[in-house]
Amino acid sequence: MTFADLGLSPELLKAVDDAGYTEPTAIQAEAIPAVLMMKDLIGIAQTGTGKTASFVLPMIDVMAAGRRRALMPRSLILEPTRELAAQVAENFEKYGKNHDLKMALLIGGVQMGDQLKALDEGVDVLIATPGRLMDLFERGKILLSGCELLVIDEADRMLDMGFIPDIEFICDKLPETRQTMLFSATMPPPIEKLAKKFLSNPKRIETTRAASTNKDITAFKVPVKARQKRDTLKWLLQNDQVETAIIFANRKTTVRDLNKQLQRDGFRSGEIHGDMDQSSRLKELDRFKSGDVNILVASDVAARGLDIKGVSHVFNFDTPWHPDDYVHRIGRTGRAGAKGRAFTFVADEDAEAIANVEKLTGNKIAVFGKDDVRVELADPSAKASEDEQSDGKKPRNRRKERPDDAEGEAKEKTKKGRSQRKPKPDEATQRNAQSKSRSRRRDEDDEPTAPGEWNGPKPGFLDIGFG
Ligand code: AMP
Repeated sequence: MTFADLGLSPELLKAVDDAGYTEPTAIQAEAIPAVLMMKDLIGIAQTGTGKTASFVLPMIDVMAAGRRRALMPRSLILEPTRELAAQVAENFEKYGKNHDLKMALLIGGVQMGDQLKALDEGVDVLIATPGRLMDLFERGKILLSGCELLVIDEADRMLDMGFIPDIEFICDKLPETRQTMLFSATMPPPIEKLAKKFLSNPKRIETTRAASTNKDITAFKVPVKARQKRDTLKWLLQNDQVETAIIFANRKTTVRDLNKQLQRDGFRSGEIHGDMDQSSRLKELDRFKSGDVNILVASDVAARGLDIKGVSHVFNFDTPWHPDDYVHRIGRTGRAGAKGRAFTFVADEDAEAIANVEKLTGNKIAVFGKDDVRVELADPSAKASEDEQSDGKKPRNRRKERPDDAEGEAKEKTKKGRSQRKPKPDEATQRNAQSKSRSRRRDEDDEPTAPGEWNGPKPGFLDIGFG
């Protein structure tokens, strides 16, 4: 299946090609033809599935015909947060570069002057957060009666944030004859109700790739004592081949403290949470996207849905209180086919939350165990025997031995090591035979370890929860 099969215009196909996409994702393949046929749509999909392009691309072609009028946007996209709105706007610019369409972004926390000016001149696509839109509507600065197309994105998050009454108000102000699309990662009853009320005979598309079962994400839970979370995080940041990481915490104060601590420890980290003003949030995000910092400590509200390329790791410093957030958090990695690792710290106080996560996803998350560690751990018995040798040299820390230029190879080895893990019995026998005739890796020499059981050498603080 190619984008050309979906009925998009040549101008769009060129923009898609320039974006480097060769094949539509599952949701795009289903949604694009339906939207082009002016059907209403319910998309049950998370970010990371290509859902933004699944509505932005056909919208551009649908909007290509028709005229702009002052104060009357022709289409409206509602987003729960400013960051998501800004991200969808970026998508519009990227895919709509060969079209003459005007777009305006209405979000809180930024100067209103330019937004009002754009509205005055007439816009084809208005991307807004409900709060700012309501504000302008109530002040008579915007008319919604010319809006033929509505997208409600991240509806379940809108629900969490208390936006449903605003959305109902806005829907009531739109013309009855219009096309409506609703996207949501989950469909709790209030969202079903909203869909029933405001969509007519919608096509329902559900993407199979839930973040919890995304094969590109390797997820672990790490049992720890609350007071050991920081050390555990630090150890993993240093030893799990972290390229870029987002660390989620449940409280804003934890986000702030953790970031300070990481900076003190010499990490390049930044923070993003709901208490920051818009420009600082965007600035911090830009620092992360540009690689100025490679670690972002974040709260859920600020980070939901962010599309940042190449995030290698997600850490849940706390298990999220809402199980849906777990799915969203770990979905920040393993995006668009890239591999990612997600670690969730589970202290006593997180026990109930993790049980809820596992209930929601229908999946027991693997306990991070010895076989999952990416570096070789210093072996006390080896150390002792090296000490006994009388060459007078200090015993070396084995995990620091890897030369920098061997990193790629080391990763390859680790990957192989990991893909060989938990072999089926016949494979295990075969491997044992093979391992006799070649240089043996330390982890292959060991007895199999039950998940969560840690019977080898380990950094001291990892004793807890693995012992
Ligand atoms: P989304 O689910 O909309 O947040 O998109 C996730 C990521 O996938 C974004 O970085 C998109 O640029 C990218 N993407 C969207 N569609 C495709 C596609 N057909 N092929 C490759 N990447 C895509």
